[in-house]
Amino acid sequence: MATRPIHSPAPARVGDDIGAIDTPALLLDLDVFETNLDRMQAWADRYGVGLRAHAKAHKCPDIALRQIARGAIGICCQKVTEAVPFIQAGVADVLISNQVVGAPKLALLATLTRHARMGVCVDNADNLRHIAQATQAADTQIDILVEIDVGQHRCGVSSTDEALALARMACDTPGLNFRGFQAYHGSVQHMRDPVARAEVCRHVAQTIKTYMNHLIAAGIPAVATVSGAGTGSVQFDAASNVFTELQAGSYAFMDADYNKNQWESELRFDTSLSLLATVMSVATPGQLVLDAGLKAMTIESGLPQVMQRHGLAVRQVNDEHTVLDIASDATTASPGEASCPDECRFDVPALGEKVHLMLPHVDPAFNLHDVVIGVRGGRVEAIWPIAARGPGR
Ligand SMILES: *Cc1c(COP(=O)(O)O)cnc(C)c1O
Repeated sequence: MATRPIHSPAPARVGDDIGAIDTPALLLDLDVFETNLDRMQAWADRYGVGLRAHAKAHKCPDIALRQIARGAIGICCQKVTEAVPFIQAGVADVLISNQVVGAPKLALLATLTRHARMGVCVDNADNLRHIAQATQAADTQIDILVEIDVGQHRCGVSSTDEALALARMACDTPGLNFRGFQAYHGSVQHMRDPVARAEVCRHVAQTIKTYMNHLIAAGIPAVATVSGAGTGSVQFDAASNVFTELQAGSYAFMDADYNKNQWESELRFDTSLSLLATVMSVATPGQLVLDAGLKAMTIESGLPQVMQRHGLAVRQVNDEHTVLDIASDATTASPGEASCPDECRFDVPALGEKVHLMLPHVDPAFNLHDVVIGVRGGRVEAIWPIAARGPGR
């Protein structure tokens, strides 16, 4: 047998009609995406707060460069290796919005300080000492944010004295540059009721003020940075007069979980990202089977939702399949129902037709794909590598 290599073709090429895209594919509606970016940047600008967009959401340098081109001051990454392709693409300011523990990670972190402004979160004195040893060995500096637990009960110190001790150490140790606080409240982001969300955010802002006052009273130089906020809390955190940086990430894409939040302010984001799948079996009456499953999306935040079509409900998602139930009135339902905007279709897709799914949770979905396909006006405009995909170290 000849051993000539066989190449799988790319799922799409720039300029293709959207109908020619092979599936499963991650699709980004560029008009909606750009509007989301503009709205968030305008919101940050209005309150004089920096946008440090969270890149863990997309892991895609092309997307980060578009956020920065609109005014974002830099990005967050959650893992040190995740930062590498962004820095290679020219991102100059990265906060690892997380704890970094262990010699190999700290060595890479110190290396990155030679290429970009780097920051990291700490909640432990031994860890801070190890970070300093790494930056001293590299003869560089790193920004230190002391993480405070503002209610999520995951990482972060939970007393003002612990925060003061870490801040003092960061001020006094060569290789470290004390900047302020990390104060992200993950569990408030998906509270559905905006009044309840606002209330928790007010409480968080009060907690941060208590920590700031404690440091000021102890003679620590001003806390320059307070970084935090996600898509669900950003409308309140921007206006809090406490945060100096906003770390939202999902706002650019909006998944089914975030769409369950109620939004009462003028700040709104629309769904730009979808999973494109093909009907691969109509053999069983009353159902359709799509060619995308758990290798193309995750369902820890609920099931995906069918977009742009009425009368199809996701029943189950298996490794390589998604099964849809066809509602008995799918072909007769009348337009204008709240669940289905005007452009919704009412025909049942045939074998080989394509369906857009709204992803339950965007972050882990990006992580499963090699590329995201940017579309506009029915055509493929861009194909962007998801260069930082993988679990990250
Ligand atoms: C995930 C995360 C964010 C962004 O959250 P979104 O809900 O995607 O906007 C911000 N900060 C930290 C530390 C995070 O882990």
